[in-house]
Amino acid sequence: MRKRIVAGNWKMNCDLSETDYLLSRLMEQKLNPEVEVIVTPPFPNLYTAFNLLKNAPIDVAAQNMHQEANGAYTGEVSATMLKSVGVETVILGHSERRAYFGEDNALLAQKVSTALSQEMRTIFCFGEELQERKEGRHFDVVKEQLQEGLFHISNDDWKQVVLAYEPVWAIGTGETASPEQAQEMHQFIRETIAEAYSQDIANEVSILYGGSVKPNNASEIFGKPDVDGGLIGGASLKADDFAAIVNAF
Ligand code: PEP
Repeated sequence: MRKRIVAGNWKMNCDLSETDYLLSRLMEQKLNPEVEVIVTPPFPNLYTAFNLLKNAPIDVAAQNMHQEANGAYTGEVSATMLKSVGVETVILGHSERRAYFGEDNALLAQKVSTALSQEMRTIFCFGEELQERKEGRHFDVVKEQLQEGLFHISNDDWKQVVLAYEPVWAIGTGETASPEQAQEMHQFIRETIAEAYSQDIANEVSILYGGSVKPNNASEIFGKPDVDGGLIGGASLKADDFAAIVNAF
């Protein structure tokens, strides 16, 4: 049985007191216990979040990490540093990292390897841009992102991987992929994994949808058979909206 997951991508939002406030409000919410709930505060607040949520059914993940174990990489954060503050899940390949920080498939493949070798669960993000969809290339683009960024991992590694399909044109734009578009792509992703690995692995991996998921559209999207949850940006910054999305299954 695949895990249902709703992860909030806080991006570069929430200082320390705002983190404290948002998490305190979130802990007051009734959350569907069948859904794994994840929040991703910015790096400086991960340790505080981990401690605040110690007894809550909410996991803490990081939004990014460096591909090397340590060394002269000014401004960067390693997997072992994240683990040392209790973080065991990391988002890799978010479209903002790809677009603004030049993270390409080859670099992401290295980051994935490092995360998995450190036993960090990886939420691997990918998705096509608007022009690519308009040109009918969205399936090819997604397949290439998977093949080049992820398909070097072993069969066993898949237990530590969650996928997040996020069409770039739907992130932060208010424009959501229709439930049918999400299902079509998620089914394609599962078929692609089945071809490259096995049907069992394809059936077991959780595939999240991300892109303007809100309380009013979440249940229709989550109702599709190959959609196992969501990666939520804007709506994860309001405790009641995020809880409503968690409870939308
Ligand atoms: C995201 O940042 O991953 C995201 C899906 O953002 P939003 O929900 O705001 O579109």
